Amino acid sequence: MPQEIDILVSEVGPRDGLQSIKRTMPTEAKLHWIKALASSGLREIEVGSFVSPRLLPQMADCGMLVRESNKIEGLTVLALVPNLKGAENAVAAGARKLTMPPSASRAHSLNNIGMTPEEAIEEVRHVCAFRDSLPSEKRPDVEASISTAFGCTLEGKVSEDWVIEIAGLLAKAGADSIGLSDTTGYANPAQIKRMFRRLRSEIGVEKMGGAHLHNTRGQGLANVVAALEVDVTTFDSSLGGLGGCPYAPGASGNIVTEDLVFMLEAMGLRTGVDIDALIAAREVLLRGLPNEVIYGNIPDVGLPKGFTYASGRSVT
Ligand code: ZN
Repeated sequence: MPQEIDILVSEVGPRDGLQSIKRTMPTEAKLHWIKALASSGLREIEVGSFVSPRLLPQMADCGMLVRESNKIEGLTVLALVPNLKGAENAVAAGARKLTMPPSASRAHSLNNIGMTPEEAIEEVRHVCAFRDSLPSEKRPDVEASISTAFGCTLEGKVSEDWVIEIAGLLAKAGADSIGLSDTTGYANPAQIKRMFRRLRSEIGVEKMGGAHLHNTRGQGLANVVAALEVDVTTFDSSLGGLGGCPYAPGASGNIVTEDLVFMLEAMGLRTGVDIDALIAAREVLLRGLPNEVIYGNIPDVGLPKGFTYASGRSVT
């Protein structure tokens, strides 16, 4: 019987982390890493992206990763799909949860998925219609996470009203849940609080998705606390903050899973994740990507003496 949790930590390293670095991790090594992540207690892992291998050769083995990861008991296997074609491929591989990245910034949307924001919303509608055409046991959950929701490296400020309008349109298009992504690491805690509050009043609590945060400007965990204060319960993060940021040397990519789990547990919020097992998973990651720079404070300095998990389990 899996332990009850308060917060879902959704590991995105195998997708967001690996697609941000140039090297391709061998499939076998990715699978070892995914298994190590799952055995730490993580319940959801984004294993890859169904995009053209011409664009992202690092993700070419996504079908195989979905098939193999589906064998891990108790794990929700998530795959990113930019469009209907990707969704069809993902479902053919057995994916039960899809995440789509419509972007609020016009320039980023065109750059990232070759569609305007309006076209990307239409694409979500097509994917939801495809979902509804499937027999119920094959129907995947469709999550949409609005990219560049807090600002864009190409356009700068992104209109908050526009982001919320997109969220409403995505809900109407049939998305099961809608989250907000700080793709560029621009968000601050006040903005996070304001935007998630507005998101909830626009789409309702049953469609509330999670927060996808990057630590590019060091605001990652502060932004998590802000989101917790407005009842966000799902957070994306990556082991070792894999991915980095080409524009900010020394800055991690996604928020670091190890530090996130530590903070949540120390605050009394159960994640079901074991921090020592996460730290062990870093070795597995580095075996597949020798000498890659990864981040994290807890892995550097260790757990505080007498640390107790939210479940009451103490570490000696
Ligand atoms: Zn990201």
